[in-house]
Amino acid sequence: MTDLYLNIRSVSKYFGELAAVRDVSLQVKKGEVISIIGPSGSGKSTLLRCINQLEIIDSGEIAIEDDVIIASDADGQRIRLPERQVRRGLKKLGMVFQHFNLFPHKSVLGNLIEAPMMVNKMRRNEIEPYARELLSKVGLADKADAYPNRLSGGQKQRVAIARALAMRPDVLLCDEPTSALDPELVGEVLSVLRQLANEDMTMLVVTHEMGFARDVCDRVVFMDQGQIIEDADPEKLFSNPDHPRIKAFLRKIL
Ligand code: ADP
Ligand code: MG
Repeated sequence: MTDLYLNIRSVSKYFGELAAVRDVSLQVKKGEVISIIGPSGSGKSTLLRCINQLEIIDSGEIAIEDDVIIASDADGQRIRLPERQVRRGLKKLGMVFQHFNLFPHKSVLGNLIEAPMMVNKMRRNEIEPYARELLSKVGLADKADAYPNRLSGGQKQRVAIARALAMRPDVLLCDEPTSALDPELVGEVLSVLRQLANEDMTMLVVTHEMGFARDVCDRVVFMDQGQIIEDADPEKLFSNPDHPRIKAFLRKIL
C-alpha cells in the first residue's frame, strides 16, 4: 500500500470520432488538492465523469487505493470486475456538479440523508446528527427544513457539498462548483472548499477560479483537446508554463 490514492492510467473516452479524453494518466495522493483547468471542451468534465463512472471509458484503468474500479482493454472491451469491488470504490467518491443537482422535492436535510439511507441502508436517526453537523459546517444549520428553491445559488452549492460529504467520501470531485453562481456568491462556496482542503480532504476540482487554484491547490493540471498537457505545482504553472497554449489561455483569463 502506497500513499497513492487515485490512479488513472491511460484513460480514453470517445464520443463517436471525438476523443473527449485521450490517453490521460493522473495520480492523486491522499490529501492532495488538484485543480483541473483548461479551455471549454477540453475534456475536464468528461474526465471527472469517467472517474465516477457516469461515462464508460473506452480504454485504460481507474483504481482507488488498490482497487481497480473500472478497466477496459485497448479494443474498448470492458473488463469485468467483481461488482462488490466496483461498488466499494465508487462509494469512496463524492461529486459536486456545476448546477447543484439537488433533489427539488426534498428539504435540505432530506437531500443529505437520502443517499446514506438508500445506498448505505442507514436509519434516519443514525445519519441525521451527522447531516446536521455537516450543515453547520457549511454554514446552513438553520436551513435544514428549507426546500432548494428557497435558497440562493451559493446556499444550494453548499448543500450539494454537504450532501456529497454525507456519504463520507475519500475523494471529492467538483466540476466547476462556482461557475453557475453570481459573482458575489462565489466566495462562500470557495471558502467551504478551502476549509475541506485544510482538513486534508482529497479533491479534484475543475475550476476557472485561478486564485483558488493558485492558493489552495497542491497541483494544477491543464487539459487541452482531451489531454493533460501540463501537471505542475501552481507556482510553476501560473508563472512559467511549459506550453505556449497554456500561456495563451492564462493571458486571456488573468
Ligand atoms: P469541458 O468540461 O472541458 O468543457 P467536456 O468534457 O464537457 O469539456 O467535453 C469534451 C468534449 O466532448 C467536447 O467537445 C464536448 O462537446 C464533447 N462531449 C461531451 N459530452 C458529450 C456527449 N455526451 N456526447 C457527445 N459529445 C460530448
Ligand atoms: Mg465542463
